[in-house]
Amino acid sequence: HVAASLSVFDGNGATADGHLVPILANVGGAADAVKAAEAGAQGVGLLRTEFCFLERDTEPTIDEQVVAYRGVFDAFPGKKVVVRTLDAGADKPLPFLTDSTEPNPSLGVRGYRTDMTSPGVLKRQLTAIATAAEASSAVVWVMAPMIATVDEAADFAAMCRVAGLKTPGVMVEVPSAALRSASILTEAEFVSLGTNDLTQYAMAADRQLGTLAALNSPWQPAVLQLIQLTVAGSIAEGHNKPVGVCGEAAADPVLAVVLVGLGVATLSMTSRSMSAVGAVLKSVTLEEAQGLAELALSARNADEARTRVRAGLPILEELG
Ligand code: PEP
Ligand code: MG
Repeated sequence: HVAASLSVFDGNGATADGHLVPILANVGGAADAVKAAEAGAQGVGLLRTEFCFLERDTEPTIDEQVVAYRGVFDAFPGKKVVVRTLDAGADKPLPFLTDSTEPNPSLGVRGYRTDMTSPGVLKRQLTAIATAAEASSAVVWVMAPMIATVDEAADFAAMCRVAGLKTPGVMVEVPSAALRSASILTEAEFVSLGTNDLTQYAMAADRQLGTLAALNSPWQPAVLQLIQLTVAGSIAEGHNKPVGVCGEAAADPVLAVVLVGLGVATLSMTSRSMSAVGAVLKSVTLEEAQGLAELALSARNADEARTRVRAGLPILEELG
């Protein structure tokens, strides 16, 4: 039955004792979204809108954007779709938004910061998202990438509400945002951990440099601690707001168990990882996941964290 459970995701992310953890898909456009829906995704946890427009050297019109977003929303009627506003810059340059001469693009004007240098693009994108959302039955949430401060989160949330988007959130991918998640969640309705960038910035290790792969691991206990702090902020000050993960960490079935143990509410990943993550998650209770998260957090280094958690997951032997 394990082989069968690995070929398709059953569309119901949960621990062995029935603690629900929706398994969502990361998509870059309508074709991806259709595939993800067929593979059993419970929604979209990250629509990378910049992927819809990578080839463009001019800003797409509002009408063009509406068509692109509708294609995704229509693949998930009645389901949640989290749209990320353009994350241009560094590893994802967009000629109409980013300055290719910056000396250090990953610390430069990227993501939400492009609203300073190209005013109007974000506002038009929010209009397009709202228009597409109105025309579909998907439950549309929207979030900004590369948020570093509470004021940025507040400004973004205000822009979303003006555009008619009622569920604004932000990505936590800069350590400052992880540390301030309680205040950020006073302004925003949810956060989603972008563990690829959160790891890069916590470890000061370029995510594109293979040489630094060992440093650039979400298993680094420092990164796990930032995730733990983000979740702690989401239940502080009377909040009860969800923290999701949409970075590659969620696609590692072993690490996914740790994330759930740390209190993450949803996992979003490439659709081919959903069945393995779903199967491993179903092999542990929430309490066991919490115990494994403690073991990982208290490890001396990334290797020890991973080894400890693997040893606590007998299903891995069955899965091979
Ligand atoms: C991340 O940084 O983890 C993330 C999901 O965003 P991206 O990989 O698109 O930068
Ligand atoms: Mg990112």
